[in-house]
Amino acid sequence: MSVKIGIPRALTYYAYYPVWKEFFEGLGMETVLSRPTTKKILDNGVKETVTDACVPIKLFHGHVLDLKDRVDYIFAPRFVSVNNEKTVTFCPKFLGLPNMIRSSISGLPPLIDIRIDLKKGRTELFKICYRLGRQFDADLLTIIKAYMRGLKAQARYQMLLNQQLTPVEVLNIMEGGEQPVQNTKESLKFAVLGFPYTVYDKFVNVDIINKLHKLGIRVLTAEMVPPKQLLSQAKKVPKNLFWNFSNQVLRAALYYLDNAKVDGIIHITAFGCGPDAMVDKMIELEAKQRGKIPFMSITVDEHTGEAGLMTRIEAFVDMMVLRRGLS
Ligand code: SF4
Repeated sequence: MSVKIGIPRALTYYAYYPVWKEFFEGLGMETVLSRPTTKKILDNGVKETVTDACVPIKLFHGHVLDLKDRVDYIFAPRFVSVNNEKTVTFCPKFLGLPNMIRSSISGLPPLIDIRIDLKKGRTELFKICYRLGRQFDADLLTIIKAYMRGLKAQARYQMLLNQQLTPVEVLNIMEGGEQPVQNTKESLKFAVLGFPYTVYDKFVNVDIINKLHKLGIRVLTAEMVPPKQLLSQAKKVPKNLFWNFSNQVLRAALYYLDNAKVDGIIHITAFGCGPDAMVDKMIELEAKQRGKIPFMSITVDEHTGEAGLMTRIEAFVDMMVLRRGLS
C-alpha cells in the first residue's frame, strides 16, 4: 500500500498545489486532499487555533483536522520565499505554521514541514525536493522525474490561469473537468483582489465570485495576471511590501487600474490580518488617484453572513450600473 500524503485545501493550496501533488505522486505516493471547507471544518479549526489568529490560519487547522486520521503524513511546509526578491517573505504566520499546528493539535501524523526558501535561485527547489525524496528513500532518477513532473504541472497551471481562469476552474480542468463557458452578457468588469485563500475559498467568502457572475459582472483576479506583468508593476511603488501575497495583491490592483479599465475593485481582506490593513489603504488611494475608480473592501471572518454581504455587493453593483448608465 502506498504512503498517503495529506494536503490541506487552504493557504498555499491555491497557488502551488499542482507542483506538490505531482511531485509526491511521482515518488509513488498517494496524495489526499482535504475536503472543501464546510461549517464543520471551520468550526473545528476555530476550536483548535489561538483566538487572535486570522481566519485563513483557523481554516488551515480545520483542514489539517479533516486529514488527521486518513493519512500517513501531512504536508505543512514553512513557506519563506518563492523567488529571488531579497526583501520579500511570507507573513510570520506562514513562517511559524508547522510549529503552530504541532502545538495546537495533538495526535497528528508526522508533518512534512520542509522550509521553502528560494531566494538563492531556482536550483533551491530541486535541492528541497531532493532532500524530501531521500527522506522517503527515493533514488536520484525517481526524484528528478518527480521534480520534472511537478514543474510541468505547475507550468500548465500557470498557462491556464493566464487564460483568465480562476485557480479553482484551472484545478478542475486539470482533474479532467470542462473549460467554463464565458458569459458574453457580462457588462461590468470588477477586479476582485485578495489573498488566494480568501478569494477562492467559497465557504469563507460566501461564494462572492459566483454571486458577482450571477449579477452580470465579469470578475478578474490577481492570479489571472501573468507573473512577468505583475513583477513589472513593482516599479510603480516606491518600495516593495515585505509580504509575498501582499505584493501580489497590490501589483494586481495597479495592473488592473492601468491596463484593464475595470469598473470597480473589491478587496477581500481577512479579519485579524496585519499585512492586509496596509494593502487595503494603498489600493484605495491608488484607485482614487486614477479617476476615482470605485473601491469596496470586504472583511471576512468565521462569522461572515451571506445576507449582509449580499446587500453590500448589490448596492455596489447598483451604483456602478447607474454610473455607467446601464440601467
Ligand atoms: S497574510 Fe494575513 S491572512 Fe494571510 S496568513 Fe498572514 S495574517 Fe493571515
